[in-house]
Amino acid sequence: MTRIMQKLTYFETQNGITFAAMNFENSISFAKHSDEKDELRHFRDEFFIPQHNGKPCHYFTGNSLGLQPKAAENALRTELEDWKNLGVEGHFRGTNPWMYYHKFVSDHAALIVGAKPIEVVVMNQLTSNLHFLFVSFYRPTSKRFKIIMEAGAFPSDMYLVESQVKFHGLNPGEAIVEVKPRSGEQGLRHKDILQAIEDHKDEVALVFFSGVQYYTGQVFNIREITLKAHACGAIAGFDLAHAAGNIELHLHEWGVDFAAWCSYKYLNSGPGSVAGAFVHERYASDTSLPRFSGWWGHNESERFKMLKGYIPEPGAAGWQVSNAPVLSMAVHKVSLEIFARAGMEKLFAKGKQLNAYLTYVIKEALISNPKIQLQIITPEMPERGCQLSLLTGDNGKQLFDHLANNGVIADWRHPNVIRMAPVPLYNSFEDVYQFGQILQSYNE
Ligand SMILES: *Cc1c(COP(=O)(O)O)cnc(C)c1O
Repeated sequence: MTRIMQKLTYFETQNGITFAAMNFENSISFAKHSDEKDELRHFRDEFFIPQHNGKPCHYFTGNSLGLQPKAAENALRTELEDWKNLGVEGHFRGTNPWMYYHKFVSDHAALIVGAKPIEVVVMNQLTSNLHFLFVSFYRPTSKRFKIIMEAGAFPSDMYLVESQVKFHGLNPGEAIVEVKPRSGEQGLRHKDILQAIEDHKDEVALVFFSGVQYYTGQVFNIREITLKAHACGAIAGFDLAHAAGNIELHLHEWGVDFAAWCSYKYLNSGPGSVAGAFVHERYASDTSLPRFSGWWGHNESERFKMLKGYIPEPGAAGWQVSNAPVLSMAVHKVSLEIFARAGMEKLFAKGKQLNAYLTYVIKEALISNPKIQLQIITPEMPERGCQLSLLTGDNGKQLFDHLANNGVIADWRHPNVIRMAPVPLYNSFEDVYQFGQILQSYNE
């Protein structure tokens, strides 16, 4: 077996921490040794890993649907028991009194996105949250009405923006400005994003980007995009579906106006589970913003007086509409506790190392097997989190099927991209190594 040693350059996280360069080896002993050294390795035991032919599969779709924490079942059972035994009284006398459920998760959700607890609320679903936030933060005037966003955004975001623009009686063709990659390129150049904002500076109302591009895995520079939007008199909002739990976020410090994310991708809270929303502290008691309101965002001490006249709770909680979906919140709560125990910095560091090792084993496979046609389209660090997107050649689907038949769960995205994300809570270096071996054995 050839063992090619490769020195990786140092890479930096956004807060300037550097990690030691690693000497990777394409061997099972190296992979096992790396797992032994990994102080987060025990967290894998807290998750159910789906099986393939009686063995744990190599699960690389934590970016699409995170795995089930073993604690989920008990968390659900507790709520079902309280409901069974207490009925409506569970709102006040439950183990986790349902009445206050959104408060039980705010601290930990705030850790995920780098926010103050008052800036975060867990509610609804991702796209719904964005609609509610657009109501408050996309307020076009005859002069300032444009939304600048990435081309090829996740479809829900395209439909969201298009419908919001139409809702205000505007023409999507004029109001939506998409920043596109240069010809022959896959990712967006950061300076092109800033330039697009500058080019429309007298007309832009909102700059709306994802934190991590779902297709390419590109990490956008949220801090600088926000600064530029503000310098041009616009609001900055973000869809953090692929960023929450994946990359380092400091929404408060970066001055982001609003953001939302889902909990079923990196946050492992179950299919369709409840989502998160962020509203910067500067709006915490701003009652001048229009909102679509409901009783749960109303001032808590007045909520059950059933009176007219909406008084919002301070902070993001004032954007709530409905009472919390407790069963979904229960799973989210225990999931977030795992993140808090592991520590975000350690998770981000391991995520980057797994990604770097994945990059390395793919390059090894490409060198040794000319039948594999793959190109990594995710930009290099620091524009990268856990995810790698692989553009396939003509035999892309066969290659993908080969992986699937050998116990690799990755994700095929039309027209020809394989997305994979080794995630730090439950993926191991051995998972990555075994993936490399399976890839390398492709022979069709
Ligand atoms: C996954 C994802 C969504 C999904 O939206 P839901 O409202 O949770 O169904 C939306 N936007 C982006 C960018 C996503 O990656």
